[in-house]
Amino acid sequence: MFVDQVKIYVKGGDGGNGMVAFRREKYVPKGGPAGGDGGRGGNVIFEVDEGLRTLMDFRYQRHFKADRGEHGMSKSQHGRGAKDMIVKVPPGTVVIDDDTKRVVADLTKHGQRAVIAKGGRGGRGNIRFASPANPAPQIAENGEPGEERYIVLELKVLADVGLVGFPSVGKSTLLSVVTSARPKIAEYHFTTIVPNLGVVETDDGRSFVMADLPGLIEGAHQGVGLGHQFLRHIERTRVIVHVIDMAASEGRDPYQDYLTINEELKEYNLRLTERPQIIVANKMDMPGAAENLEAFKKQLNEDYPVFPISALTRQGLKELLYAISDLLETTPEFPLQHEDDEEEEVGINRVVYKHEKETEEFTITRDPDGTFVISGEKVEKLFKMTNFNHDESVQRFSRQLRGMGIDDALRKRGATNGDTVRLMEFEFEFVD
Ligand code: GDP
Ligand code: MG
Repeated sequence: MFVDQVKIYVKGGDGGNGMVAFRREKYVPKGGPAGGDGGRGGNVIFEVDEGLRTLMDFRYQRHFKADRGEHGMSKSQHGRGAKDMIVKVPPGTVVIDDDTKRVVADLTKHGQRAVIAKGGRGGRGNIRFASPANPAPQIAENGEPGEERYIVLELKVLADVGLVGFPSVGKSTLLSVVTSARPKIAEYHFTTIVPNLGVVETDDGRSFVMADLPGLIEGAHQGVGLGHQFLRHIERTRVIVHVIDMAASEGRDPYQDYLTINEELKEYNLRLTERPQIIVANKMDMPGAAENLEAFKKQLNEDYPVFPISALTRQGLKELLYAISDLLETTPEFPLQHEDDEEEEVGINRVVYKHEKETEEFTITRDPDGTFVISGEKVEKLFKMTNFNHDESVQRFSRQLRGMGIDDALRKRGATNGDTVRLMEFEFEFVD
């Protein structure tokens, strides 16, 4: 199976910060807390778009960050939540967390959505911290950081376009000059033959997958375990590009070549002749090619379009690729079997690694200079959500650390009064 693969970075928006504010009332210096909550950060959401065929777009944009929530405001106004970021992916995209190797989402159906990086919640404003004991709290939370991670997108690539033609007419050459991305080919299929296959991108940003069809068919004939996958390829192959050596460099007649190959396509019994064909008159840079093309066109009975090109000098490629893209947009698949056979494919070729993410709340290490260093996802998040401009907020943070058992753990590791402790950019003295 061919797999198009790309690694990208996603980050949900941070929540907006909560606000410390007080009502202003005549004669009352602090008229009660009035700091609003921050808004929620945007999620990064993937959505299946059946119009997409490849992961080509992700080769240009690899970072996806949703917006942060608005900060809370005075007069008890809450910040607005940010809009979610919607990222379109082709059907069949599997999303894998790069750290844990776990499958985050398996996106198959048009319109299907999955949250890939959650936005953080908004931090609470000081209104939320008011209590009878502390009616005017100088505490506000910063927004929760949005979830961030590296993910790998994997797409099993199926051929949209099949190249056919005699050996040495220039199929491989054409493929090599029009395809940029070369999908990874898993080692367990096509052990004896590596069919040419690549992702083509047109200048106007459309993309499709082109494959050397004889390579595919031969692979299947040699019984290298294709079966269902092979049929999926053939079904998906909606346009046939028939490459002809118009220079007749090996002495054969171009029109005879054309007839012979079409006869062969019939024999495969895979509805190949029902598909629209585009004829590529290749090697037009060579002497005699122009005359041969004239003769060829006179003999041609079918009204297939003919594109004169030179794969070698790259003449005529742009027009050809546009025509293929246009035709793909209007040509449906050619089913070879009943829908209910689809079941087979579910669940194969998919290894799910169950490495749980580390759940440790914090770890303590020591720098060479003796500083105690605290790290860990949970404690770092608390740190980021603390507003250090207000003493009361800082005190709350200290209580939270104690509650997590960090003070005890530091003591166990030998921390004594006055030792330096660091958490991200924050340094403080250990007080026993
Ligand atoms: P395939 O067997 O159909 O895959 O053909 P290849 O791509 O391997 O090409 C066969 C030979 O034709 C190679 O020597 C190529 O360099 C040559 N060839 C391919 N395209 C052109 C072309 O447009 N012009 C010329 N002059 N030679 C070409
Ligand atoms: Mg070849």
